[in-house]
Amino acid sequence: MPTLRDVVYENVREGELYQKLDRNRVRCYACGHCCPIPENQPGVCKVRYNKGGTLYVPWGYVGGVQCDPIEKKPFFHAYPGALAYSFGMLGCDLHCSYCQNWVTSQALRDPSAVSPPLEASPEALVRDALAQGGKVLVSTYNEPLITSEWAVAVFKEARAAGLITGFVSNGNATPQVLEYLRPWVDLYKVDLKSFDDRHYHELGGRIGPILDSIRRLYQMGFWLEIVTLLIPGFNDSDDELRRLTEFLAGISPHIPWHVTAFHKDYKMTSPEDTRPEDLLRAAEIGKGAGLRYIYAGNIPGMVGDLEDTHCHNCGRTLIKRYSYLVEDYRLTPQGCCPFCGAAIPGKWAAKFDGQITSHPFLPRRASRLVTILSQQ
Ligand code: SF4
Repeated sequence: MPTLRDVVYENVREGELYQKLDRNRVRCYACGHCCPIPENQPGVCKVRYNKGGTLYVPWGYVGGVQCDPIEKKPFFHAYPGALAYSFGMLGCDLHCSYCQNWVTSQALRDPSAVSPPLEASPEALVRDALAQGGKVLVSTYNEPLITSEWAVAVFKEARAAGLITGFVSNGNATPQVLEYLRPWVDLYKVDLKSFDDRHYHELGGRIGPILDSIRRLYQMGFWLEIVTLLIPGFNDSDDELRRLTEFLAGISPHIPWHVTAFHKDYKMTSPEDTRPEDLLRAAEIGKGAGLRYIYAGNIPGMVGDLEDTHCHNCGRTLIKRYSYLVEDYRLTPQGCCPFCGAAIPGKWAAKFDGQITSHPFLPRRASRLVTILSQQ
C-alpha cells in the first residue's frame, strides 16, 4: 500500500519557480523561505523536492474541495454573495499549532493529519465549479504559494471560463512568486498572524517577507484583504495591535481588516476562546490607527455592527451581514454608496444576485474527482 508520501512524491512535475545552483542543489522561490535544497531532499514544506538537480512540485490532485460562501474566505469587498469553489493541496511552509486546516496543511508532518488526495485536472475542477454555480475559484486550505504552479494551471482554465480567482494565504511570498501569480490571481487574502517576529519564529516563519509581500500585493493591484486571528495572550496586546493596524493603514486605510475570534484547535488548546469584547477592543485600536473597513468575525451576532460594511464617507450601512449571510445589499451597480456617491473600494458585481448558500457544502458531484489513495 503506497503511503501518502509516495502518492505526493509521484504526482509532480518540474516547477517553474526555482533556480539551479552548484552541486545539483536548487533554490526555490515559491515562498519566503527561499530554500536552498540539496539533491534528494525536500524543502521546508515537504511537498517540493529536488531530484537530480530538478525541482519537482505538486501536480494533478487536490487535498479537498468545498463550496464556500465568499464571505467565509473571508472576502467582504469582492463579489458579495458569490459561491467560492475552493480547493487545496497538501502541506504548508509554516506549522501553526492552532491551524484550523491542519488535516491538509500538516498532512506530511503529522501522522494524525490524514487527508487522501483526490486526482484532479484543471478542466475537471473548473467544470465542477461551474456546475455548482461558482463565480470564484479559490486556492486555500493548505498554503497555496507552495503549490503556485498548479494554482496557475487551474486559474488559466478558470479565466477562460469567466471565473474570478483568489488565494487565501499566509502571505509568506517572494517578489518572484507574486510576479508569477499577478496575471492569474484577482483576489488575495493574507493572514497577518502577528506583528512580532518572535511570534512568527514560533510558527516557523519570519515577519519580514510577509510585510514586504503585503506592501507588494497592494502596489501590484491584487484585491487585498487582511485577517488577524486574535489569540488571547499570543497576539492581542494593545501595543501589538496598534503597530499592526498602523502598518496596514500606512499602506492604505481602505484595506479591509478582519479581526476574528480564536477557538481551541489542533495543538493550541490552552488559551481561552476569544471573547466578543476582545474583538471590539481590537476594532477600536484599528479605527484609531485610521483603518476604515474593520470587521469582527467568528462570533456572529455578538459584535454590534462590525459584520456590516459602512460607507467610509457618510457612515451609512451598505451591506448587512449575519455570519456569512448577506442580509441586505445597497451598493450601486458602479460600486458606490447610494447615499453620498462615494466609490467603495473593492470588486463589485453590477448587481447583487443573492447567495447560492451562506453555509459551506461539499460539491454534490465531487465523485468526478477520484481518490488517488483508494485507487492504488
Ligand atoms: S515553497 Fe517555500 S518551503 Fe517549499 S521548497 Fe519552496 S521555498 Fe522551501
